[in-house]
Parts: sequence; C-alpha cells; structure tokens
Amino acid sequence: MDKYNGTILITIDGVRKKEIFNSNIAPFLNYACKKKYSKKIDNMVVANKYKVSSPGYNDIITGKVNEKYIDNHIDYNKNTNFFENYKLKPTLALSWEKFNKIYNTRRNKFKILNYINKTKKINNKIKKTKCSKIKFNKHSCNYNEECYAFQTFCYYWKKNNEKIKCGHLGFKCSDSVAHQNNFQEYTKYISFYDKIIKYIWKNLLPETIIITTDHGRGTKNWNDHYYNIPGSNNIWCIILSRNKNKLYNVSNVLSKQPINTDIYNLLHHFIIY
Ligand SMILES: [Zn+2]
Repeated sequence: MDKYNGTILITIDGVRKKEIFNSNIAPFLNYACKKKYSKKIDNMVVANKYKVSSPGYNDIITGKVNEKYIDNHIDYNKNTNFFENYKLKPTLALSWEKFNKIYNTRRNKFKILNYINKTKKINNKIKKTKCSKIKFNKHSCNYNEECYAFQTFCYYWKKNNEKIKCGHLGFKCSDSVAHQNNFQEYTKYISFYDKIIKYIWKNLLPETIIITTDHGRGTKNWNDHYYNIPGSNNIWCIILSRNKNKLYNVSNVLSKQPINTDIYNLLHHFIIY
C-alpha cells in the first residue's frame, strides 16, 4: 500500500480571504501555498444567491444549487451528494448539526460523527490525538465540539480501510464567533484550524486535502454575510496534494470563473478520476 492515501475535504465556516491568506493568522497554509504541492484558488465565488451556510455546503457536496435552500431552516436535501453518487464510504466528522440534513443521512445512512452523537467508547479511544493548545473564551462557541470533530475524524480515518479512502471534516466556530463580533476569537479559530490541517497533512498522510469555506463575509461589515452584504460572495479554495499530475491538471476541472460547485468536480478529479 502507498504511504500516502486518500482525499480529505476540510470546510471552515465563513472565513474571508483576507484572514486565510494572512500568514500571521494561518502560518502553515500560507507557507504551504508557496510550495509545489499546493494550489491556491483565491478568486472563487458562491453559486447560490443567498451566501449563507446551508446553501453553501449544499453547493460544495452536491455540485448543484438547491433552489429550496434559501437559509438555514432546511429540510433533508433532495440533491444527492458526491460520496453517495460514487457509492463511497466517507469518514464524516462535522461539528455543525445541520449536516445530517445537507447530506440527507435518512436517504444514504451515512454516519456523521459529532459531539451530539458521542459515546464513551469513542471518547476513551480518541484522547490520544492531541488537540491544539490555543485557549479559547469559554462562552464564544463550543470549542469542545470542534476538538471532538477533529479527534474522531483522526481516529476513524486511521481505521478506514476502504480502497477509495475519503472524508469530510467540517468546523463551524469561526462563523459563530464572527457573528458575535469577536474578531480576536475569529482569528484564533482560524489559527486553530491551521494547526489541525498541518497535523492532518503530516500525520494522517493523505494524498490530497481540499480546504474551502461555505461563504465569505462582509468587506466592511466583517461580522455578517448575506446576499446584500458586499464581500459575502468571495471565497477561496486551497488544495494540498502529493499527486503532482492531478494537481497540475486542476485547472481543467475549474470553471473560467471558479465557483463553489467546482469543489464537487475537484473531489471527482482527485478521488475518482
Ligand atoms: Zn453565518
């Protein structure tokens, strides 16, 4: 078996280009972006009209806008997602509780690992993966949920013996603390995710990681995002890959103006093709 194996999608909620491409906030990612094993897409836009989370994640994992997804009061998704379309068994650890509906786990029976579904058995096993030591304000967002998603993801990724190994790790707190107008905590969460991505790249040894966000944030009103808030449409994607050929050919699967539904095609490019 190859030393490097599998593709991981990592989503971090509502993070602007301005912060993710600041090397003081995300040192590992900005260092990696200068290397040959990476591709930085900094001109991506959102396909849906609304520029909020549920439609954004739908676009990413299903590759098609769902007209019924206009806010976060959503029903089980009628769009099928990439992993079920190709009959894959992904490792899914997602701290935001709406993902069961976006993935439609009622239809495909995918198991989503998160704090709400935690068990004692897993709890004891995951402790070996160290969470970052950054101290967070206790009331800002539930940091434990983020840490739990990361730890369970690592645990199950190592156990995942699928021939086509893939997964999705998703974080939410960056957006929650931003809505609370707490810029310091918002940047701290981004630094925390940056450390996690570094850990995953160096320890889980995936072939590819695709990192992106569900929506941007206001250019002036940085704490909010919506269709009428300028800046909310502007997102980004960073790809780290040890597969030189596939990385080199990434532009073949991107739209002329890169759009978030292209992430679906990127998953296809790295996982199936
Ligand atoms: Zn939000």
